[in-house]
Formats: sequence, C-alpha cells, structure tokens
Amino acid sequence: MEFMPEFRTARPTTVAEAVAIRAAEPGSRFLAGGTDLIPNIRRGIVAPPTVIDLAGIAEMRAIESLDGGLRIGAAVTLAELANHERVRTAYVGLKQAAGGIAASTHRQVGTVGGNLCLDTRCVFYNQSEWWRRANDYCLKSKGDVCYVAPKGSHCFAAFSGDLAPAFMVLGAEVEIASKSGVRIVPLTEIYQDDGIDYLLLKPDEMIAAVRVPAPSDGFRTGYAKSHVRSAIDFPLAGVAVGLRREDEAITDLRVALTGTNSMPLAVEGTEGLTGGPPNEAMLQGLDALIAKQIQPMNSTFSPPGYRRRVVAKLTRSLILNLYRDG
Ligand SMILES: Cc1cc2nc3c(=O)[nH]c(=O)nc-3n(C[C@H](O)[C@H](O)[C@H](O)COP(=O)(O)OP(=O)(O)OC[C@H]3O[C@@H](n4cnc5c(N)ncnc54)[C@H](O)[C@@H]3O)c2cc1C
Repeated sequence: MEFMPEFRTARPTTVAEAVAIRAAEPGSRFLAGGTDLIPNIRRGIVAPPTVIDLAGIAEMRAIESLDGGLRIGAAVTLAELANHERVRTAYVGLKQAAGGIAASTHRQVGTVGGNLCLDTRCVFYNQSEWWRRANDYCLKSKGDVCYVAPKGSHCFAAFSGDLAPAFMVLGAEVEIASKSGVRIVPLTEIYQDDGIDYLLLKPDEMIAAVRVPAPSDGFRTGYAKSHVRSAIDFPLAGVAVGLRREDEAITDLRVALTGTNSMPLAVEGTEGLTGGPPNEAMLQGLDALIAKQIQPMNSTFSPPGYRRRVVAKLTRSLILNLYRDG
C-alpha cells in the first residue's frame, strides 16, 4: 500500500507571495489542481517538503480580453477554459484540446498552468514505489539506467500535455513570474527535449498566465489525439493544426505535437509547404518533415511505429477538414 508522505501546505493569496515562498524553500512545489502532482507524491516519485497551493490566488483565476486576444490565468481550470464563450467560438483547437483532457472530474480541478508544466511520462516511471524499487528505479528518478534506451544516458519520458500544442499553433506567449518580476516569452521557448529537464523555468519561476493573440481572419485551428481509452487517458500522440485558406491555397500552416518527444513540438518548416491546396505532394512533404522531427520511443504501451503512423494520419485529416471548412 502507498501512503501519502507528510508535507507542509503554504496558501499564498498573490503571485508575489507564491514566488517568494518558492524562492525561500528549496524543493517546494507549486500545487494547482494536483491531478498530476499528488499521484506523483503518493507514488514517492517526488517528495516536496512544502507544496504551494495556487488555488487562493484570485489574479491567476481569470480569463480577460487583451489586445483583441485573451489573457488566461494559469490557475484557470480546464473546464473553465473549454467552456469559455470566446474560446469555444474563436479558438476551436484550444477548446477541443482542453475539453478532451482526462475526465470531467479532472477538468473541474486541473489547470492550464499544471497542464503546461505536466511532468513527462514513461511506463518505467509512472509506477508505484515498490515496482520502481524492485526494478532498481530508472534514470528519471533515483536510478542510473533509462530502460527505454539502456545504452545511453538520456531520459526519453514523453511530454503528454494536450494544451501546449493547441496554444503553440496560436502563437501563445507565457507570463513567467519570479521574485525579479515578470518576463513574457513564446510558449515554445520554455521546453527542451529532455525527459528529466523538460522545462526551462528557473527554480523560483512560475507561469502566471498565457496570452493568445487576437484571432486573425480566416485562420482556423483544430486538435485531435489518439489514446487507448476514449476518456481518462493520456494522449499517445496529439496533433494541433492551424491553417488559413485563401481561395484554393493554404497561406498559413502550423502544426504542433504532443506525446512524441520529451517536449511539445512545434513542427519546423511548414511555411515551405504553403501556397497551394493540400494535395498528395504537399501532404507527403509534411509527412517527411514530421517524421524527421519526432522521436517516439518505447515509453508507452503503444510502440513508436504506431505513434508515428497515428501522427501522420491525424495531421492529414485535421488539415483536410480545416481546409474543407475554410
Ligand atoms: C487518470 C488521468 C488522466 C489524465 N489524462 C490526461 C490527458 O488526457 N491529457 C493531459 O494533458 N493530461 C492528463 N492528465 C494529467 C492532468 O490531469 C492534467 O494534465 C492537468 O491539467 C494537470 O493540471 P493540474 O492543475 O492538476 O496540475 P498539478 O498536478 O497541480 O501540477 C502539475 C505540475 O505542474 C506544476 N505547476 C502547476 N501549476 C504551475 C504554474 N502555474 N507554474 C509552474 N508550475 C506549475 C506543479 O508543480 C507540478 O509539477 C491525466 C491525469 C490523470 C490522473
């Protein structure tokens, strides 16, 4: 049986207070909805002496208009995001991503910030303490070997959050708060392809909000994912597409992925495929771009080859549907 270890809970009411506690208490962790952090604490994967509960910070709970777009507080829940009137009408891919995460109960408490900072996942890591101990742990936590690629010294746990790719095709930015103030960076810049150090936030930094630009004319987005069960399951692979169609031509094309690497991946080079309709040559060009940039490994129960095929299939059908409706 697994027992919950003891920890202290801090309950700040402002962002400034939260980051001050984080800076003063090494090893502490932010707690948002807790749907990822609490299972990891219970399994002995992490053992923070203090958790900093973000639920009481009113300034992080709002969705506001900003320069024609939206500023979404990091403690906004997935249900609030998916049901927000402007998100449902102007940012359809974001609504689809948020509305398909886990199950309704998780979405009532799980948050935008928690989803963007979600720990990377692996079949050798997301296990009970006794299972991991019996297997000498793994490189990501307490062990020396990555069982996915035992000859190397790199962790291949996969990033599996659904929101990041949906935000990326919108060109979202994040407000990162610390004791020194707030910096605003593109969302794509806070990740790196490393299963252990997947987040480029400094220890005392937190995401305070996400900014999405005003929807531009004719730019449409969609999100689709593959998972073993149709609810309460992480994506094996998830695809976000944003495109603009003018007459017969696609004039803007953006693709971002989750579940394929240790970070959400904004596919590079898609601008070279615009200027015409989504014919077979263009779609094959996109298949090739994606195939080169993704690196699914044996970190899930579904093999890498399956996840490669599913990404290509989901991307094609999203593009064709968005083009047809455009
Ligand atoms: C059965 C089950 C199914 C799931 N299915 C899915 C799924 O389909 N898709 C999916 O994406 N997720 C899934 N999840 C994971 C999780 O429920 C969601 O990702 C959720 O959005 C996490 O948000 P949270 O607020 O609960 O995060 P928490 O657990 O509170 O936090 C997660 C991590 O983010 C950090 N953090 C939280 N907020 C901030 C912040 N503002 N700044 C910096 N760091 C922060 C925490 O310290 C922690 O390390 C599932 C979980 C379960 C248990």
